[in-house]
Amino acid sequence: MSYTIALAGNPNCGKTTLFNALTGASQRVGNWPGVTIDKKVGKIRGTSSELVDLPGIYSMSPYSPEEIVSRNFIVNDKPDALINIVDATNLERNLFLTLQLIDMGTPMVVALNMMDMVQSSGDKIDVDGLSKDLGVPVIPISAAKKTGIDELVTKIEQVAGSKSRPVPIRYGSSFESAVSAAEKALEGKVPDDSIRFYAIKLLEGDDDVVEKAPGARNGIKSAIDAFEDEFDDSADSIVADSRYNKIAEIVGKNVKRAPRDEQGTLSDRVDRIVTNRWLGIPIFIGIMALIYFIAMYDSTWGTSPGAWATGWLNDWFEGFGEDVAGWCEENNVEPWLSGLLVDGIIGGVGAVLGFLPQMIILFLCLVILEEIGYMARVAFVMDRLFRYFGLSGKSFIPLLVGIGCGVPGVMASRTIESESDRRITAMSVTFMPCGAKLPVIAMIAGALFGGSVLVGLYSYILGIAVVILTGVVMKKLKKFSGTPAPFIMELPPYHSPRLFNVAKSVFDRAWAFVKKAATIILLSSILIWFLCSYDFGLNMVDIGDSILAWCGEGLKYVFMPLGWGDNWEFSVAAITGLVAKENLIATMGTLFSVEEISEEGEEIWEVLAYLLGKAGALSFLTFNLLCAPCFAAIGAMHRELRTWKSTGFAVLWQCFIAYLVSVIVFAVYGTIVGQEVGTLSYVLCIVNIAIIAYLVWAKDPFRQLNDSEEVKTE
Ligand code: GDP
Ligand code: MG
Repeated sequence: MSYTIALAGNPNCGKTTLFNALTGASQRVGNWPGVTIDKKVGKIRGTSSELVDLPGIYSMSPYSPEEIVSRNFIVNDKPDALINIVDATNLERNLFLTLQLIDMGTPMVVALNMMDMVQSSGDKIDVDGLSKDLGVPVIPISAAKKTGIDELVTKIEQVAGSKSRPVPIRYGSSFESAVSAAEKALEGKVPDDSIRFYAIKLLEGDDDVVEKAPGARNGIKSAIDAFEDEFDDSADSIVADSRYNKIAEIVGKNVKRAPRDEQGTLSDRVDRIVTNRWLGIPIFIGIMALIYFIAMYDSTWGTSPGAWATGWLNDWFEGFGEDVAGWCEENNVEPWLSGLLVDGIIGGVGAVLGFLPQMIILFLCLVILEEIGYMARVAFVMDRLFRYFGLSGKSFIPLLVGIGCGVPGVMASRTIESESDRRITAMSVTFMPCGAKLPVIAMIAGALFGGSVLVGLYSYILGIAVVILTGVVMKKLKKFSGTPAPFIMELPPYHSPRLFNVAKSVFDRAWAFVKKAATIILLSSILIWFLCSYDFGLNMVDIGDSILAWCGEGLKYVFMPLGWGDNWEFSVAAITGLVAKENLIATMGTLFSVEEISEEGEEIWEVLAYLLGKAGALSFLTFNLLCAPCFAAIGAMHRELRTWKSTGFAVLWQCFIAYLVSVIVFAVYGTIVGQEVGTLSYVLCIVNIAIIAYLVWAKDPFRQLNDSEEVKTE
């Protein structure tokens, strides 16, 4: 027989490992409809049953898209059976989901994972007792060591075949009579099999269920009041408490803990240091610095392996470009074709692929830190800080990676479990000044601020401020909202990294980068090359007469309030920055060298200082730091956000906020240094401050958007 089996469990309990062990290589990865969460499906080896991997969740309340996806799948798609994978080293936390799944009434088996760790710790779990108390079969396994897998497969097929539903767990008589009242009120309004689950949710006042059965909760108001009075608490707390009490009772009965020595395990001792209130952050900065040192460091004193490999690859691409150019010349290839090949394709794609070695090293280090469980500690440490602004501690890692390069930074947001935090982070990472923006910062600092490091400092503080602003504002959009997933205080035990997992993660990420970034970079490079090499009559011309210059002429009016003056070159530079931020400098070099510099023998920065002034230069820098990142990063953002609609929204937001902030910077700083600031800039500055204040303080600034989103998700 072929069954549909769903796999559900907390994040980090070994779900991916078990999924791989059960399905081998036969998996398909797609998306859950409507949301951008991985949907993995595969055939269970040796059977014709299909395994559907549900997102990792802590509970079945619709706090997050992950939970909604899981709930909808179990209720609407009615899998034949459910494997609930549970981390046996952490039963107290994991069983909370188990109890809710039991109420859903789907035939299920509990896979008690990490039994190898339980055994080596000396703890004893009475598996039969556990199974009896939970009312479902329990199979001890180790997904990593691949023990118990066959027993699990046999059991789940048997349960699916016999449709044996779990025996509901009873929580005491007054609890049960409230549940009965709720079940009566819901009859016919929710699926019969899951009625107990819905009844308890109705007691809790779960929005989703209350909406499904209008009036039902009012109908049983007296029952709920009596229930709340008896326990002197709100119904939802009573339900949670009852569940946790039940779990404590079950665990107390069936788990015999081996005595721990005073110091705790080695893992505890390490944790005491790395999550220490004062040491945690410095240790983390130290580790990240070391990783950067390995991947990026490059100076007169020496070169790191990453920087060396990247340098080598860049040289190779350059040499390759020259070879091709030489070959084209010898063979009288049309100039447009050689331009396209050398400047367009090899130049553009090479610039991006050149980053590959550094990225592989970065990925490798990060994946190892993730595998051994250190990243969970970092998230714990950072959570204290970021939670204050409604962001999760895990957002911090991608931001840090983004200081090197936005592309791996955006990709690092993958590790964030909560969908909304992941999306907000993916669209915020590129506010941090990446490596490619450093030369731009250096140029502006050198041209107008005597090379002051304060310009660099300004760039980082600006980046962090806008990240926080984005977090605060986006949380108000329905699709980014949702109570932050409860942060779990218990930390998973350290694991030694598994070579296969590490290799696979690194390869997957690197390959995705090559594939996706190279396609988007290829197209955009060709496009920009075309736009700056041709005029509208499709004649090959100098950049000054090109289509791009024409666009710049139009765009310059948009940028005038930013203090960029009557110069189309700056607008064009901002556009070419979309291919790679280093282009800003290259483009301006080309453009200005044609006009001013050649006659007067001036340096490019003298021209800049003359044309922009301090305030204009600072606004130029600000805009280019914050606006849409390069195409490679946009491509990476699209990979994380999945739809072009979301990606478009993110890019619009970045350009929008860049524009707002740049006008303010120009007007305010221009006034301070006594530069001429036009009336328009002053007016816009005040308007922009008002807009930002409104976004930050208004309760629901996106009412319109929120309503339309709501229709979409249905
Ligand atoms: P997921 O977040 O639920 O998908 O969990 P993963 O499959 O990524 O596993 C989390 C960590 O636990 C990884 O480092 C795994 O190697 C490790 N792990 C998974 N199953 C076992 C197991 O049975 N025993 C041990 N010792 N480690 C495991
Ligand atoms: Mg996983």
